Amino acid sequence: MGLRDKIKTPKDKGGKKKGASGGGPAPKPPSMVEILKQNKAIFDQKWKENRQNTAKLSDFEIIRTLGTGQFGRVMFVRHLKSKQPKTFFAMKILERQKVVSMMQTDHVLYEKKVLQSIDFPFLVNYRYHFKDNASLYFILEFIPGGEMFTHLQKVGKYPEVQARFYAAQVVLSFEYLHFLGIVYRDLKPENLLIDQFGFLKITDFGFAKRIDEKPTTTLCGTPEYLAPEVIKNIGYNYSVDWWATGILIFEMSSGKPPFASEDPLKIFEKIMNARVKYPNTFNPMLKDIVRNLLMPDVSKRLGSSKGGTDAVKMHEWFKPIDWMKLYQKKVTPPFIPEVKSIDDTSNFEEYDELPILELPEEIYSDLFKEF
Ligand code: AMP
Repeated sequence: MGLRDKIKTPKDKGGKKKGASGGGPAPKPPSMVEILKQNKAIFDQKWKENRQNTAKLSDFEIIRTLGTGQFGRVMFVRHLKSKQPKTFFAMKILERQKVVSMMQTDHVLYEKKVLQSIDFPFLVNYRYHFKDNASLYFILEFIPGGEMFTHLQKVGKYPEVQARFYAAQVVLSFEYLHFLGIVYRDLKPENLLIDQFGFLKITDFGFAKRIDEKPTTTLCGTPEYLAPEVIKNIGYNYSVDWWATGILIFEMSSGKPPFASEDPLKIFEKIMNARVKYPNTFNPMLKDIVRNLLMPDVSKRLGSSKGGTDAVKMHEWFKPIDWMKLYQKKVTPPFIPEVKSIDDTSNFEEYDELPILELPEEIYSDLFKEF
């Protein structure tokens, strides 16, 4: 169920709607702040629940690999228990051994809690999760259009209208996540999937963390997208997502990120120098929003300084965006991926298939007790 379905104005709670009976003006639709507040209440409630094993591996027929992650892969699967025989999902597998050896146990437990609790139009929907002796599993809605990364590579760079359309969905998603106290920390075109209608779905909450207002220090993310305060290891908060939004807008508009090198250390050096070379194709407004998001001083960075997220939404570059209409998906996406049927996986690259790891006994049961 989409988030809009859950929003109830006081007049919706039973009784006759004034507007419907013709006896007065229609009830005022909820504002963004009201929507956020209502959704935080739902999120807080779900956050307290700790449901376990809401499905099992044998409920699914495994069809093919869609992508690979740090600790395993994401598979295209068919749900065997569904009344509707053509019900497909994406199954993310995390091998316990790999999670432990990369010291990512806490991040995985967070990923589960976050996925279980969020609900937003531009964030991938979680359906089930479970674990077996060798691995942990998330069942997510399948997003058939593939990664923005693949589409962007094909076309080189996006026209401004398209870059703005995607950036605006990221801004709304960050507004929602930050309102809940969650920092996302892994924005990049590989984690932005495009649905069959052309809207974005952000996936991979492996670095998402509920920080509320407290700063955190963990060095994580993708080198090209890291903010200077993460590299400096001085403690950071939601500001890192706004920096990454600047990198994303730059990459979508030019085809490459502003700080790039084969060597991650060189990338870090460039980020710390913060000298951005803007292509001449960038118009003044585009340049201005990127420059303000890529502000090394957090207190001056758009999104983290005065006005917060509203300042981002009110920037001139976003002027053509009707935020409420976008949130309600009442706008026409500039690009619709080719999706022939609900089980069309042709927008995903091909991978060598590997059998699912099986173990006779559960490993690291204590570490993953909460999963
Ligand atoms: P992740 O480990 O979550 O970053 O996922 C790795 C890759 O799997 C992504 O970059 C996508 O290509 C693919 N993927 C992840 N989630 C989904 C999904 N819900 N639907 C379709 N593909 C997905």
